[in-house]
Amino acid sequence: MTSYDQLRARIAGPVLTSGDPGFAEEVTGSNLAISHTPDVAVGVTSVADVAEAVRFAAAEGIPVRVQATGHGAHEPITDGMLISTRRLSDVMVDPETRIASIAAGASWRPVQQAAAPHGLTAIPGSSVTVGAVGYTLGGGLGPLSRSHGFTSDYAREFEVVTASGDIVTASNTENPELFWALRGGKVGLGVVTRMQLELVPLPTIYAGSIFFPEEHLSAVLRGWIDWTRSAHDQVTTSVAIMNLPDVEMVPPPLRGRRVLSLRFAYPGDAREARSWLLRCAPSLRRSSTRSRRCRLPTSARSTTTPTGPAPAGAEACC
Ligand SMILES: Cc1cc2nc3c(=O)[nH]c(=O)nc-3n(C[C@H](O)[C@H](O)[C@H](O)COP(=O)(O)OP(=O)(O)OC[C@H]3O[C@@H](n4cnc5c(N)ncnc54)[C@H](O)[C@@H]3O)c2cc1C
Repeated sequence: MTSYDQLRARIAGPVLTSGDPGFAEEVTGSNLAISHTPDVAVGVTSVADVAEAVRFAAAEGIPVRVQATGHGAHEPITDGMLISTRRLSDVMVDPETRIASIAAGASWRPVQQAAAPHGLTAIPGSSVTVGAVGYTLGGGLGPLSRSHGFTSDYAREFEVVTASGDIVTASNTENPELFWALRGGKVGLGVVTRMQLELVPLPTIYAGSIFFPEEHLSAVLRGWIDWTRSAHDQVTTSVAIMNLPDVEMVPPPLRGRRVLSLRFAYPGDAREARSWLLRCAPSLRRSSTRSRRCRLPTSARSTTTPTGPAPAGAEACC
């Protein structure tokens, strides 16, 4: 019996090594440009699975990494254990306390879908395909950050498996130093299995992207920088210069082009929002292509982010 067979006997989810059926699917994240080849991949199905996996890794002296969606992958993982949290996907919203209980593998989409019927929202990032826990552990600076701050400010509690395999709670009252570190510290602080996140009442926002062709890039960028100096403190805005691929999911006028995407969000009245937007430099007024008021859960429809796994790396953020 190999040591991995012993691990298999202790874990309900799959324990896979290179060559096993399902290994490639288990380790592949959203960025297909990065291929992971850990020594072992563990598809955890419960907090008990996570604790067993971490205890095994500690006893064997092998490093542990965590993957939910793979959106945060920067380099290939070539050794040790990869814990895949994608099966831990449940989300529960309590409209009375305005708390969402979010398992480690859930993306923002089910969180928003569960919160919206109650007129509530999390303070998520720009893409609903990103993992809610991974995002929050990095602090989280998204489309509502000027009006609402960092997402990690809304975290109320984490359930964490520590490096020794203990299951602990981190909150303002239990393990407060770990709680402090988890709200932005991200890596090396244990495996978070669940988070309690405060939601805010916000039924609609005025938000979207305006796309400009490459020839206007310099003028728009200068105009945007000037505009941001006086933009209302509830307005959140950013720009990205993107080489959009020539594929069907990209709208025809943008396909295969280098564009500047100006992102804008305002959590209030649409007329007020438009007036703040139109105070932009004249160069911005001339060629708007996309902006609309939207119910929060539908915001994914107006994204240029791939909705499934794809090679990444062509986008340059400013
Ligand atoms: C399309 C896109 C849009 C984005 N938009 C924004 C944005 O608006 N604002 C912003 O601030 N960031 C944004 N990001 C960055 C994003 O927040 C990070 O890449 C984040 O780490 C992704 O988390 P994930 O769980 O989806 O990714 P994963 O690659 O699965 O995880 C990334 C890392 O998070 C840690 N991690 C994940 N889960 C756990 C866990 N359960 N326990 C412990 N550690 C864990 C691990 O270190 C892991 O390597 C964006 C990224 C993409 C690709």
